[in-house]
Amino acid sequence: LLPQWFIDEVKKRTNIVELISEYTELEKAGTGVWQGRCPNPHHADKDPSFRVWEKEQSWACMVCHCGEKNTNDNNFGSDCFAFLQWIENIGWYKAVMKLAEKAGIPKPEDKNQAIYNRNKILANSYTKSLHGEAFNYLIDRGLTRKDMEKWLIGFDGIKFTFPLFDRYLNILGFSRRWLHKPEGRNDKYRNPPNGKIFDKSFYLYGIHNLDTSFPEIRITEGPMDAILSDKYGAKNVVATQGTALTDGHISIIKSLNMVPVLCMDGDEAGLKSMKKSVEAFAKHGMYCKILILNDGKDMADMANELQYSIEEYIQSNSITYGQYKLKDILNRYDSQMLEVKIKLYPELLKVISEIPYEVERNVIKDHIKKQLSIDL
Ligand SMILES: [Zn+2]
Repeated sequence: LLPQWFIDEVKKRTNIVELISEYTELEKAGTGVWQGRCPNPHHADKDPSFRVWEKEQSWACMVCHCGEKNTNDNNFGSDCFAFLQWIENIGWYKAVMKLAEKAGIPKPEDKNQAIYNRNKILANSYTKSLHGEAFNYLIDRGLTRKDMEKWLIGFDGIKFTFPLFDRYLNILGFSRRWLHKPEGRNDKYRNPPNGKIFDKSFYLYGIHNLDTSFPEIRITEGPMDAILSDKYGAKNVVATQGTALTDGHISIIKSLNMVPVLCMDGDEAGLKSMKKSVEAFAKHGMYCKILILNDGKDMADMANELQYSIEEYIQSNSITYGQYKLKDILNRYDSQMLEVKIKLYPELLKVISEIPYEVERNVIKDHIKKQLSIDL
């Protein structure tokens, strides 16, 4: 693991204006603000739409919205690592190491390196045993050989092995899943026991695959959800490995400065856990969105069904908790008659009181006033 002081030091010693100037010409546009043409090859920028904020050490394009974040007023853009990730199309770890090298900061030693090395050797031997029935099973689930290689999926003779990568591409251990589940067992995946190296409540599967210039992180349950979503181009889909969201997960997401999108099964258990998670985020002062999947389906099913439309599906169906609750009520009443309004009033009051964010409460109140002429 790269210690936080190392990451902070690299950031401190990197001047984002100088860094970005290597990719596009910047001119001063005000106190601490620089501008230039957007270096995004898909954005044929004729105006200087690209902004760099010197004090915040952040960047964003005002037109194609790359790097833009709306999570926090004081930190509008993305950081230097996200810039390098985006422009060079590399992973976060590579971006950190590249800037460290540039700044002349040597990589700190990791006392767990011997374990990572051993796990890497194990992972490679497991991939060699993935053939025959086990291989065909994964093909049936919608994976290709390329996906299996990308995520280094293997087989230990009884169970599939999913390497648990950290952000720095070290393998902390393996999540294992039966090929043939013995009778009487109801565990789907088996994670390593919590210890110094791996702790389930601080772990998100797929975290090594994040695009940090993208504003959202999508939270699902299992490795197959993350892998199949990624296969079809959905961004930043991670899995909690079958556990409920913990304060540890929340602190990781908070440090990433991304908006979490909870992707939940639409069954009763899913909705219950969603409410808990929304409240947990609110407790940490964080805003989140939710995506309710069709009854009984998980993200892996949705990805196989929608294929390359999966990213669009996530974007157009993610809503806030308030929107979800309101939709639920309005589905039951669709008249503006006085009698209905009288019935509606206490329910609306209750729903609004359950929304954990003040800004959202006000927006929803305003919406109800316009739509139903009810002043709450
Ligand atoms: Zn742009």
